[in-house]
Amino acid sequence: MPLTRACFLEDRTLFLEREGRPLKVRAGIIVGADGSGSEVARWVGFPPPSRYLLGIQAIVPYDPERGDFIEIFLDQGIAPGFFAWVVPAEEGVARVGLATHEARGIRYRLKKLLEKLNSQPIKVRSGFIPIGARARTVKGRVALVGDAAAQAKPTTGGGLYPGIVAAKVLGEVLCGDHPLSLYERRWRSRLSHELRMGMMIRRIAERLGDREISYILAFLGRKKFLRMIGRLGDIDHPSVLLKALSRDWWEMWKSLKLRRRPAL
Ligand SMILES: Cc1cc2nc3c(=O)[nH]c(=O)nc-3n(C[C@H](O)[C@H](O)[C@H](O)COP(=O)(O)OP(=O)(O)OC[C@H]3O[C@@H](n4cnc5c(N)ncnc54)[C@H](O)[C@@H]3O)c2cc1C
Repeated sequence: MPLTRACFLEDRTLFLEREGRPLKVRAGIIVGADGSGSEVARWVGFPPPSRYLLGIQAIVPYDPERGDFIEIFLDQGIAPGFFAWVVPAEEGVARVGLATHEARGIRYRLKKLLEKLNSQPIKVRSGFIPIGARARTVKGRVALVGDAAAQAKPTTGGGLYPGIVAAKVLGEVLCGDHPLSLYERRWRSRLSHELRMGMMIRRIAERLGDREISYILAFLGRKKFLRMIGRLGDIDHPSVLLKALSRDWWEMWKSLKLRRRPAL
């Protein structure tokens, strides 16, 4: 819970609550960096993100002897439409989580995953992850950034990298006294290619069942592709690898029978 809460915006006046006391601020520029449930976006009437994923994550004890590897579970029974992960974090702990487009039963899904891994949660957090950036992120004197703008990567739901890139762009625009519309143009020129490509991958991935996923993994497990992935794989810029894979990818894709899966 923030110490100072923005409660409402009227024209250029922001109504706040600081430690229970009301406060009014007249602002030249308003930046909505208020996360996935952005109230600033709602007050100003920004268009919505393309869709939302629901994510949940537990901190669990982790034996460093198990190695410094990230484990990904693509089994659609564990995380429909997305994936689950085990990421070694600080000394002696790991983050175990999953994201899905199915809002119901997410805690139960995490419980089953933790049982499978024989892990006990120390702490659990959950939240919505908006993906597919809003069609506009600047309106008049108001700009949105980070999850409020839905800048997270559609492939992984990771919002830290793109959010930081966009925040830096916004900082430069504000410090340079440029019009706010330049922020919209600049962040899109830095990020929108990867975000669009990521959304395309996401849409394809959501239509895959376990059988197709196993087929693709077996296909990509060939030496030639493993070398390519090792050389070009970059979690923040998946389009580079995708472009290199595209010729073989389409050949494989044509031989797959796809099942359509609904999204949130
Ligand atoms: C389970 C889970 C795991 C994730 N794991 C990763 C990961 O490994 N890597 C990664 O890159 N991303 C991850 N993400 C996504 C990442 O957490 C978000 O993309 C990132 O936190 C977005 O940052 P933000 O600053 O835009 O929003 P937030 O981190 O949500 O911050 C918004 C802030 O605004 C404040 N706020 C909201 N409303 C008001 C108000 N009215 N007045 C005042 N303050 C307000 C909130 O209190 C909060 O402090 C994960 C998300 C989830 C749900």
